Amino acid sequence: MVDVSLAAIPFYFATMGAEAAWHRRHRSPGNVSPGDYERNDTLTSLAMGIGSLVVPFATRPLMRQFELGSGRWVRPALVVTAGAAFTAVAADAVVRAHGVAPGEVGAAQGETGIARGSITDGRRSDGLAPSGAPLTRRERIRRFARRVGGSAAVAAIAGTGAVVAGTLTNRTTSHRLWSRRILPDWGDGPAAAIAAVLAWDAIYYWNHRIQHEVRYLWAIHVVHHSSEHYNLSTALRQPVAEAFGTFVPYGLLALLGARPALIEQARGVNLVYQYWIHTVVIGRLGPLEKVLNTPSHHRVHHGSNRRYLDRNHGSILIVWDKLFRDLRGGGRTSALRPDEEHRNLRPGEGGGPRVPRHRARRGASTELVRPDRVRGPRTRLGP
Ligand SMILES: [Zn+2]
Ligand SMILES: [Zn+2]
Repeated sequence: MVDVSLAAIPFYFATMGAEAAWHRRHRSPGNVSPGDYERNDTLTSLAMGIGSLVVPFATRPLMRQFELGSGRWVRPALVVTAGAAFTAVAADAVVRAHGVAPGEVGAAQGETGIARGSITDGRRSDGLAPSGAPLTRRERIRRFARRVGGSAAVAAIAGTGAVVAGTLTNRTTSHRLWSRRILPDWGDGPAAAIAAVLAWDAIYYWNHRIQHEVRYLWAIHVVHHSSEHYNLSTALRQPVAEAFGTFVPYGLLALLGARPALIEQARGVNLVYQYWIHTVVIGRLGPLEKVLNTPSHHRVHHGSNRRYLDRNHGSILIVWDKLFRDLRGGGRTSALRPDEEHRNLRPGEGGGPRVPRHRARRGASTELVRPDRVRGPRTRLGP
């Protein structure tokens, strides 16, 4: 079966060329559009698109080695994890045993900085305490132990994560779960194909949402939000490290009776659909906005205003957002329903397409914040 996401590559280039020409034609002096093509930005997007196709050929076999029961690297990973966890605990004990002693004024000031979560950790490049006094032996040991403990903790988490991700991903492939299906075969007719696309879309919604709400998954997804432009080339910025993540498995559809080939086709359809919504050229689409994820909805998703963060996670349908946001309503006092958000998406100055205001005034607005500073899990947003 043809992979529609690959078959669409000529279409990608043709439409990006057309969109770039549209922006050139409609550019007026002094009016910067977020949709403008910029050479380095576009080349980066293309490189990411190619990377997302190529890198999985290396990462998928790699992660197979971390599957419990059959992976070659499970045992080494668990040994490293156990050693790292022990080291982290021991280092923590050393830190506690070398706590601030009476008379360590400089150290005490350093600890105060740590207690407040200071990123400097009270360290100075000249090896002195924040007060300028020389570090005591006790303090040097404490700081060394803290560094060792921090590195060991990261190693322990990484080792555990590799085994969990490798096991979950490989034990829930559609081919494996197909042989254990609990519902009858859906067949390969049009109804089954549509059902598979819709079911994929529902799982995609949750996977996309957790990528915005869980820090380490955001680290994987952030590449898609890394551009300060917003045009069709932005859609090509796909993650390269998904194999390291833990997601709701799409293989569950096979467990429910969808054939693996049908699931793969649904993946391609879903990916291609997301391409055309990365544009400011298309305005609002009337009643379709109620059901489909449209360019207008997805501009909100890519907006970096705080009120737009972590909104509109759907791929093909926007109904998932309406459905699950409403069900969870009240949990987020700042949450705006997508239709309310659009009140803020009036045409930009000069009657341009509907885009988030900060982008329409890009470069001039104090609201513009670099996406990597403000996106991602909400806990990252400090007061
Ligand atoms: Zn996203
Ligand atoms: Zn996007």
